[in-house]
Amino acid sequence: MTFQPPPRLPCAAADATTRGRRHRESAPLHRSEYQRDRDRIIHSTAFRRLEYKTQVFVNHEGDLYRTRLTHTLEVAQIARTASQALGLNIDLVEAMALAHDVGHTPFGHAGQDALAECMEGLGGFEHNIQSLRLVDKLEERYAEFDGLNLTFETREGLLKRCTPEVAARLGNVAERFVNGGRPTLEAQLVNTCDGIAYNSHDVDDGLRSGLLTVAACRETELLGPLFDEVERAHPGLDERRVIYEVVRRMINIQVCDLIEESRRRLREFAPASVDEVRAAGVDLVDFSPEMARQHRALKDFLYHALYRHYRVLRMVRKSQRVVRDLFAAFMDEPELLPDGALRAVADLEERRGGRGRARAVADYIAGMTDRFAIAEYDRLFDPKHLT
Ligand code: MG
Repeated sequence: MTFQPPPRLPCAAADATTRGRRHRESAPLHRSEYQRDRDRIIHSTAFRRLEYKTQVFVNHEGDLYRTRLTHTLEVAQIARTASQALGLNIDLVEAMALAHDVGHTPFGHAGQDALAECMEGLGGFEHNIQSLRLVDKLEERYAEFDGLNLTFETREGLLKRCTPEVAARLGNVAERFVNGGRPTLEAQLVNTCDGIAYNSHDVDDGLRSGLLTVAACRETELLGPLFDEVERAHPGLDERRVIYEVVRRMINIQVCDLIEESRRRLREFAPASVDEVRAAGVDLVDFSPEMARQHRALKDFLYHALYRHYRVLRMVRKSQRVVRDLFAAFMDEPELLPDGALRAVADLEERRGGRGRARAVADYIAGMTDRFAIAEYDRLFDPKHLT
């Protein structure tokens, strides 16, 4: 029997029920509204920069590890497959998946944490909120508006977390953080698939880099049985292929669990529209409680074994210093900034004072790729550049 995708659910997002764009535009002629969103994201500057931004391993550590861009493409692949199986809107899923990390700083979470520290008391910094800021304001590509003017549903899906105070400032795109509502099923799906992608590729990169050992991975509840299964099926297989076979199974069992559990919840709640999804009170697209537990346990394992590995931690500390020093230098003396960034500082400072200056500096730093941040650091602080 050949594969037949199920029809789209009535509670999936659809062009006919979109809450629209901030600036009115005529409907696209040859594509859906969410395809248009996806296309605008792919053509954006922030998307292209993902290629040179760290996921876990600093970009220049080697060419074999995930970057923010390949992570993003893996999230999009996994989410598209699950979306099709569930009868959701694949175009919206793809748009959100491709945009979900555009607000990340250079140097991954290390950079984000350092910038968040710098911005404490100055309005804060959070990469999800920065993703929204990029697509709403910072991309300068259109004559008629700032940003990419994406649909409400795509923008809403980029906000995974938000405090009530920030939500109040952001308005209706963040209303669910005030009223307890849910985002679209598609947003719920992309969020879960982000977790599937990073857990899986971090195991892969971690093992291939030698920072993780097979023995330690086998101790985890999720991976142990998968190593056993691969060895039983393929005795004597060389380790590299064992790792790939395990990672492939790992993605598969998580995606299958997600699809089965979500189908069960969708049958149980039977939402008839996006509005009923928003009002459901629980996520309808999610792992089963058992898989959620195993997934969290693996995440904890990776946190201790990989993200806190001394070789990763050294890069983390070094890159945090780069971010902190750049921030301090530009805050003290914005005249050190190149023209465009200096104009943004002047503009935001005029409207919002010191906080405005900080926001414009944070925008400039967050937009950097790893290698650009390092080059800026050298240009500012390395005496060799005096000659
Ligand atoms: Mg991600």
